[in-house]
Amino acid sequence: MGKNFFNRDDRDLRFVLFEYLKVADLFKYDAFKDFSLDDFEMIIQEAMKVCKEVIGPTNQDGDKEGCTYDNGDVKVPKSFHHAWKVMSENSWISLNGNPEFGGQGLPNALTGLINELFIAANMAFMTYPGLSISNARVIEHHGTDEDRALFLEKLNTGVWTGTMCLTEADAGSDVGYQRTKAVPDPKSKDPRIYKIDGNKCFITCGNHDLAENIIHLVLARVEGGPPGTKGISLFLVPKIWVNPDGTLGEPNDVFCSGIEHKMGIHGSSTASLIFGEKGGCRGILLGEPHSGMAKMFEMMNEARMGCGVQALGMTAASYDIARQYAKERFQGPPFTNRRAERVPIIQHEDVRRMLMNLKAGTEAMRAMIGKLYYMIDVSEYDPDEAARKKAFSKVELLTPLVKAYISDLGYMLIRDAIQVLGGVGYCQEFPVEQYARDCKIVSIWEGTNYIQAGDLVGRKLPLEGGQVYQDWIQGIMDFAAQHKGDPDFGKDCELLLKAAQDTNDFPTRYMQYFGGEKIKVVPLTITRFLDCFSETLMANLMLEQGLVAREKLKGVKADSADGIFYRGKIETVKYFCRNILPNVFARHLTLELEDTSAVDIPEAAF
Ligand SMILES: Cc1cc2nc3c(=O)[nH]c(=O)nc-3n(C[C@H](O)[C@H](O)[C@H](O)COP(=O)(O)OP(=O)(O)OC[C@H]3O[C@@H](n4cnc5c(N)ncnc54)[C@H](O)[C@@H]3O)c2cc1C
Repeated sequence: MGKNFFNRDDRDLRFVLFEYLKVADLFKYDAFKDFSLDDFEMIIQEAMKVCKEVIGPTNQDGDKEGCTYDNGDVKVPKSFHHAWKVMSENSWISLNGNPEFGGQGLPNALTGLINELFIAANMAFMTYPGLSISNARVIEHHGTDEDRALFLEKLNTGVWTGTMCLTEADAGSDVGYQRTKAVPDPKSKDPRIYKIDGNKCFITCGNHDLAENIIHLVLARVEGGPPGTKGISLFLVPKIWVNPDGTLGEPNDVFCSGIEHKMGIHGSSTASLIFGEKGGCRGILLGEPHSGMAKMFEMMNEARMGCGVQALGMTAASYDIARQYAKERFQGPPFTNRRAERVPIIQHEDVRRMLMNLKAGTEAMRAMIGKLYYMIDVSEYDPDEAARKKAFSKVELLTPLVKAYISDLGYMLIRDAIQVLGGVGYCQEFPVEQYARDCKIVSIWEGTNYIQAGDLVGRKLPLEGGQVYQDWIQGIMDFAAQHKGDPDFGKDCELLLKAAQDTNDFPTRYMQYFGGEKIKVVPLTITRFLDCFSETLMANLMLEQGLVAREKLKGVKADSADGIFYRGKIETVKYFCRNILPNVFARHLTLELEDTSAVDIPEAAF
């Protein structure tokens, strides 16, 4: 076993859930009426224990040992087996899954932030349950009663695991270029059974020895289907065929031809899969032919939100190590008194700056993710259809921000954590360098971050004629205007107002650029627009938290643990607004310059 570095402070997580989002409000929904705050507290404490005692110890040796491949078979790091057994036997796999099919039926808001803890304990390990439960949800929504009975409980309880199979060697971002084929199985009387033929690569958890079966959800083109994404269908392809009585049948001609050797997440198997090499691979069509992309997008969207949680988990874990280390490491006298004794590096201003980047960044990520998952609960469980619809639109708008901005910010912040540790940060004694390696994938998979920016501008801005975005940005401006005279946060609200105006200038200008000579400014700046919108939104959420913290501070002693937490929150909110939010102004300047030098330069000059 490797060293266990899981040492999370859950105070901010509990602040977000109980004091900021007020998850107790969710008890009004039928689905959650039997839960209490005590239940939630207990679940968080138990999750912390599992992280500390079971999953955390597998992180470093999972990284060192990695997955191994031998003639089609893949073995996960040895320590993962015990952790999987504990997760599976104690119902940790599917916290927000449907209780009818083995899930725990907890709110998404709670589940999202508990997953932050699990990922902080071991990101690579958590890819196995993560994909299984979103795979199960697609089958729940689009399978038949028989599919649900055969597959869901086993996926939700860790008896089997799931995958999502989109990528092919020539079809990455360009997912519509799929070559995998499907033809109705001439031997089957069931019209939903097809023969599958094609190769997929980069399939997370595509083969391993953690569970007895793997349920692949595979995109393939039914012969004769239209080109592009419109002609793609979705198939459920078990590694081992499942008989109608639920027992395992014959292997289903899915061969793993190798695994990738990666920068990080070594314990997560990334497989190349050949479907139908011997002509014997069968898949079950989910829904109508040619309707697969929309269904796969349900899983993809869930995974995109999960990307934000992944980056948050690893950044928060890095921050925990960095702040602890900075309190214990002595170097040099204070900047203001060169003759004094050496002090812990946490007292040096530049180390404070980096720690504050980590603290403010992590808390802002958590605020945004908490908000997103809370809105999912509203969108799924509110009895009022209009409220559900409104919340769902917000979830749609927020998803690319959570995926892209948080994954980029997380990677950048882990760099700061390495810097706080100095030379040991660069070495393997502490897992911070591992978090950096593990975190990088989050900006790439589930659609690269540029693809997210395209999604934001191309699909999410136009939602309901642009009203969803307009309402949100206007809401931020109204908040800023309302609080600009605030004695603590007035200056920050002025910054927020300007940031919201600058952010809003991007789509305003895009309307002029589309169809005109400056069209290339659009793809050159959309990732910046996504970053601006994210930081503005986060600053708004942080300021809301600052107001809550200030109110709570009145009821506690300033030097009590809670008092220190609330005072810390107030300073952290100011730091975010005064040190991170102003990035919006620089990005906006680049928009105003309408610079196209990146595309004007001759290609041969590269
Ligand atoms: C560890 C790992 C696990 C993965 N797990 C899975 C999985 O479980 N299932 C699965 O299906 N896939 C999986 N993938 C694949 C992953 O989703 C793809 O790698 C990703 O979508 C990018 O595709 P690509 O690698 O082909 O890069 P490319 O599409 O070749 O992109 C390369 C670069 O070009 C940019 N680019 C591409 N097209 C455009 C464009 N039109 N305009 C502007 N820029 C563009 C991209 O943003 C990127 O910066 C995984 C990948 C890895 C590395």
